[in-house]
This record gives sequence, structure tokens and C-alpha cells, in this order.
Amino acid sequence: MAHLKKRVLIAGGAGFIGTNLSHRLLRDGYKVFCVDNFSSGTKANLSSHENFFLLEQDVAQPIDIDVDWIFNLACCASPVQYQADPLQTIRTNTLGVANLLTLARNCNATLLQASTSEVYGNPSVHPQTEDYFGNVNPIGPRACYDEGKRCAEATCMDFHRTYGTPVKIARIFNTYGPGMQPDDGRVISNFIVQALKNEPITVYGDGSQTRSFCFVDDLVEGLLALMFSPSDFVGPVNLGNPGEFTVEELAHQVIAMTGSTSEIVYHPLPTDDPVRRKPDINRAKEALGWKPRIPLEKGLKSTISYFDDLLAVKSAVRRD
Ligand code: NAD
Ligand code: UDP
Repeated sequence: MAHLKKRVLIAGGAGFIGTNLSHRLLRDGYKVFCVDNFSSGTKANLSSHENFFLLEQDVAQPIDIDVDWIFNLACCASPVQYQADPLQTIRTNTLGVANLLTLARNCNATLLQASTSEVYGNPSVHPQTEDYFGNVNPIGPRACYDEGKRCAEATCMDFHRTYGTPVKIARIFNTYGPGMQPDDGRVISNFIVQALKNEPITVYGDGSQTRSFCFVDDLVEGLLALMFSPSDFVGPVNLGNPGEFTVEELAHQVIAMTGSTSEIVYHPLPTDDPVRRKPDINRAKEALGWKPRIPLEKGLKSTISYFDDLLAVKSAVRRD
């Protein structure tokens, strides 16, 4: 069916990346349909735009809608949240992904799967290239997510090979920015909220593990470049910022930028926490003409300002 406005489904559209993506698509004149069960997303982040529509349900349940593009972002991304109900995380990445792929097949829509750097596990190749098969513990507490996302990639490729369903696979590295929840348990939100409250900064392990942090605006541009890339480009493609920082460096930077009196405290390192992580983004540069533009300091500045406003609003509400 030809639609007056191009219709996009964002599964997980109430989450951190989903809300940033939906605001961007609405600005560009798309109709945005958000499917979400609010397991980690929030209604407070949703758009009130006339072209925004909400379907409150689990992605594993049948979805009856006609769309042109599907971004599958549905899955809790914070280790604390995806491990809280690991079987639901597995269901989301298996039954949920297959259900959305069936919808894509029926509508002849392109499905972009939000995969993750976690498919590389604790990597022995550094920086990580897309042809590295990874080093994942299949029976550890992170496996519901890591192996779930690997199964999701496999399911996408099998729909593509079996039925010709158009798919795109993005391997997203740690992303941060406005729209994150203050209590989601991820490192950037934890450190900024702790620093703004002058509470201890919780570094896990000795803080020597590294991560590469991508600002959400850059990531959204990468997702759009991938979705609208030529149909024969499937990926997988790494989307991330190759700047690599230890967790301890991040803690010091957040303390310095907030002028906080927080001290650093050290907690045990979670099981299977990857030692290092940095994307090789040559494929994204060559195939999509994409690279991140916002360095960590600039991205942190706007994220700190977002959390500062959010905490001020929350304490004002408490005083009422
Ligand atoms: P998020 O947890 O903020 O958002 C996920 C959204 O999916 C939430 O709104 C949640 O309620 C929804 N959801 C979860 N399970 C669902 C289900 N079964 N049915 C319907 N809705 C469901 O996460 P995010 O940071 O916005 O990440 C979005 C996607 O990108 C995820 O798939 C994540 O795995 C992937 N990703 C994110 C990062 C990152 O650093 N943010 C890194 C790698 C991959
Ligand atoms: N981390 C930390 N303190 C926190 C939260 C996380 O030191 O309060 C560490 C965590 O152990 C990991 C890194 O920061 O090494 C990134 O954690 P996050 O949960 O943000 O994402 P991950 O990359 O592990 O999925």
C-alpha cells in the first residue's frame, strides 16, 4: 500500500535510543509507531507529536500494522536491567525478533536490528572488526543478552537468506546522552548522578577496563545512514566512537566536569565484564560515509546538563 507519509515502527521506542531516534524521525516528517512494554522505557520520554502513535505491548506478541521501516531497539540495554529477568531478555531477542521479522516480511519493510558490541564478548581482537566472531561465555549471567543478540543476528540473516527479507544489522557500542534514565545502572548515568549528588562514585573492579562512548546524536545519524543505505548493504556494521577510556578515567573526568566533592569507591567487578572495548569503524566510514563527530567531553557536557535539570525537577516535585 502507498502511504502519504512514510511509516516507521520503532520497537523499544520508549527507551533511551528509541526516544532520540523518534524525535529525529518526527522532525523529518515520518509517522512513527512505537511498540514498547515499558520494561526499561518510560512514558515521560514519549513525544506528543501528532504523527507519533503508541502500541503498548511486548514485541513477542503479534503486531498488526503496515509500515515501511522497522527499527528493532526492543531489549533492555543496561546489564542490571537485562539480568533482572534473563528469560524475558532471551524471549525478546528470539521470539520478539522473529515476530518483527515476520512483520517485516509481510509488509516488505526493511528491519534494522540493534545488535551490540557485546556479540564480541571479552574480545581477543582489538579494536573489534566486524569479521571477528567474538569470545562470549554462553552460560554466564550476561549470556541472556550477548547470546540473545547473537541469535537475533542469526535470525535476521536466516530470514534474509530464506525469504529475501531486507535486513540491516548495527553493532552498537556504548552510547550515552540525554534521555537516559538516572537509575538505569549504566556507567555514564551512574557516575553523573552520583557526582551531581556528591555521593561516592562506584567504580567496579580496579577501573582499568575500557569502553568507547558514543554520543546519542552521532549514533542516531549512524542508524539512519544504515537504514537508508543501498538494499544490498546488510552489515553487520559497527557504530561507535573509537575514543577509548578506562572506567577510572571516566570517573575522574565526570568529577572534574561537575565540580563534585565525590570520592571514588571500588566495588567488585561483575562476572564476565569485558576487559576492553573499542570499535573499528572503517566499514561504517566506507559503506555509510558515517563517523562520530562529538568527542566525549562535549557529549558529557550536555549529558551532565540533562541530568542536572532532571534531578532538579525531581527534587522540586518531592518538595510539593
Ligand atoms: P533501553 O533499555 O533504554 O531501551 C529499550 C526499550 O525496549 C525500552 O523502552 C524497553 O521498555 C523496551 N523493551 C524491552 N523489551 C521489550 C519487549 N519484549 N517488548 C517491547 N518493548 C521492549 O535501551 P537503549 O539504550 O535505548 O538501547 C536500545 C537498543 O540498542 C537495545 O536493543 C540495545 O540492546 C541496543 N544497544 C544499546 C547500547 C547502548 O549503549 N545504549 C549499546 C549496544 C546496543
Ligand atoms: N561500571 C562501573 N560502575 C558503575 C557502572 C558500571 O565501574 O556504576 C563499569 C562496568 O563494570 C563496565 C563499564 O563500567 O566495566 C561499563 O558498564 P555499563 O553497565 O555502562 O555497560 P557495559 O559495557 O558493561 O554493557
